[in-house]
Parts: sequence; C-alpha cells; structure tokens
Amino acid sequence: MEHDLSLETLLQHLGEETPFPYGSVTPPIVQTTLFTAPSLRVRNEQGGLNDAGYVYTRESNPTVRLAEQKLAALEQTEDALCFASGMAAIASAILTFTRTGDHVVCVESAYPPTRTLLESWLTRYGVQATFVAGKCPDEFERALQPNTRMIYLESPASMVFHLQDLSAVSALARERGILTLCDNSWATPIYQNPHALGVDLVLHSASKYLGGHSDLLAGVVAGRTEHIEQVRQTRSLLGGVLEPFGAWLLLRGLRTLPVRMTRAHHSGLQVAEWLEQQPQVARVNHPGLPSHPQHALARKQMRGYGSLFSFETHPIRAEQAYAFADCLRLFRFGCSWGGYESLLLGWAQADTEPAPWLFRIYIGLENPDDLIRDLQGALPALTP
Ligand SMILES: *Cc1c(COP(=O)(O)O)cnc(C)c1O
Repeated sequence: MEHDLSLETLLQHLGEETPFPYGSVTPPIVQTTLFTAPSLRVRNEQGGLNDAGYVYTRESNPTVRLAEQKLAALEQTEDALCFASGMAAIASAILTFTRTGDHVVCVESAYPPTRTLLESWLTRYGVQATFVAGKCPDEFERALQPNTRMIYLESPASMVFHLQDLSAVSALARERGILTLCDNSWATPIYQNPHALGVDLVLHSASKYLGGHSDLLAGVVAGRTEHIEQVRQTRSLLGGVLEPFGAWLLLRGLRTLPVRMTRAHHSGLQVAEWLEQQPQVARVNHPGLPSHPQHALARKQMRGYGSLFSFETHPIRAEQAYAFADCLRLFRFGCSWGGYESLLLGWAQADTEPAPWLFRIYIGLENPDDLIRDLQGALPALTP
C-alpha cells in the first residue's frame, strides 16, 4: 500500500487491497488451530508450511497477521506481533533479550506488574534491575553498568505521568549497544511513535485504548524485523499468542482509534483544565497542562494526549474521599482504562489523618460537560 496516504486512511485499507471472501466488509475470523497442506509433498517442500504460508495458530494466523500489519504501520516499525495480554507482550520482549548476568535499567514509575517482573521474578534467573526516576537522561547514564543490556521506558507513566526524553535516552543507549523498550499504551501510536524517536521496541497493552471497548485483553510488540523475529520465537515457545477472535476485536477497535483519541485528547484536557481551577484540587498531573513540569518535553515528543491523569487534594479525611466518590454518578471505580466508561481510583498519600489524596481519573467517551457537572456536584466533599 502507498505510504503517502495519511495514517487514518492507511489504517482502514492496509492489508485489505484484495476483497475478503464473499465481498465481506469485515475480515474473516479464521478460527482454526491448524492449517493443512494440499499434499504431503507441498508440506515437506515448504518446510512444514502450507501453500498459503501457515501451519498452526500459535505460530501465525491470518486474522492475527492483519492486526499485526496495521499495528506496524501505526507504530512506523518494520513488523509487529500480537500477544494474549499486555503483560504477555512485555514479559516476552524482556525475556527474549536478557540472560543470566545481565542488568536492566528501568523507569521506577513503570506499570507495577512490569516492575515486579524485573524486581523479584527475573532475579531468580540472575537478571538484575536498577530503577531510576528517569526525568532526565543523565539518571539513566549514571545507572549503567558494564553488563547493562536493556533500558526499559514507559512515557508517560500511568500514575504520576512523568515523562522520559525518548530520543536522548535511546541515543545514549544506542551508542553503547543497549536495547531500548518503551511501553506506549498511554499515548497510543496516534500521539507518540517511540520507534521514530530511536526506541528499538514499542510495547502496548491493547487492552486499553487500542481495543478501546473494555472487552479485549491483548498486547503488542513492534520493532525492526531482526528483533521481532527473535520475539516471535519466544512467543511460540511461551505460547502467549493472541487468539483469532481477540485479533478481530482488536481490528475493530483500531478502526475508530484515531477518532476516539481525538475525543480523548480534548475531553481529557477540558476536564483537567477545569479541575486545576477548583479550590479543592492542589495540583493536576497531566502532561498536556502548561503547569506540568515536563510540558515542554511532552510537546516535543507527543502530538496529543490520552485522557488518563491524576489530581492531588489538600489534606482530607478518608471519609471525605469516600463521600466524594459516592456523590459521583457518571464515574465507576476500577483499575483499567482506555474504554468508553469514565473511571476513578484514589489513595491517601500518607498514613496520617488527614492526608493528601491522589485520585487517578480516566475520561471516557461521555460528553465532558456532563462529567464536569458530575465532578462539580461532588468536589465540595473534598473541602479541607
Ligand atoms: C494495563 C497495562 C499493562 C498490562 O496490560 P494487560 O493487557 O493488562 O496485561 C501494561 N502497561 C500499561 C501502561 C498498562 O496500563
């Protein structure tokens, strides 16, 4: 497909130049484990593959492959692979490129299960990790050891929304032959392309914005062919592959990703800007606000913003935090995000009472004016 097309157009047409069977508009869900060959001779002469190049769905499947082609185009990488979850993608990528005796430098605000994997699970196999705040590239440089093999990034990180300078960190890694990985779930390929900034492998939880409807668990690894071929072998051996129906749901989610992200950008900023003006709110952590300490970096490496952010209160009693949450009619309470429904989580930031609270808020596809009215009705509960 011509790559002079804009991303939105390419996303719809890529891999669909030949009509699907029966003139079907949507891709077929090739719900099969096995692909057989027309003869034993064909199979043996093609190294086990059939005439269409398939053998078994743990290796590859046409529905999954279509999703992978579109994801590679979105992330501007040579290739991409789909996994059964974001964690399957992250774990497979890390396991592919680390071995006993290696050292990993990881951003401390990374998704907590990613941290646990590096901090207490991979240590069993003799892989050590150092965690850095990562707000300036020097911190990574200082944490390097002669055996550092990988730098793991997540920008912005999904709790406090700190950023890393992706081109500076990947440049210092490349000079030393260190591999860089970046979790891009928050910004999505619509607003940030880490590979174009020099990062080797881009990771996604497709359970968030890429799927977009809170009904799909999936993950993605995207990068250069030489790396993807190695990750493919890990996927085949560990078996964390996405199944065809999941790939079909992912393809459906990707169709509307650009329009959903435009909405997420505007609604998220509108609510964040409004919250920043409220007397009960001490600060709002959103990289798109000029008050964010890394706003200049955000503008340099992202084209827009996701609608997950957090805000901090003045010291309040726990009862006030729960009263605030109980007053909300349009927000649900849960830990994922990226779907159509608005969500809220919150924790005290100290063991004292009263204590400042941190609320993480996800703005869904509702009208932001309604969400603001809902918050307006509940915020008085947070007055110290
Ligand atoms: C949810 C999430 C993951 C893990 O993805 P799963 O699909 O739940 O395994 C990884 N990184 C980030 C930033 C996430 O939000």
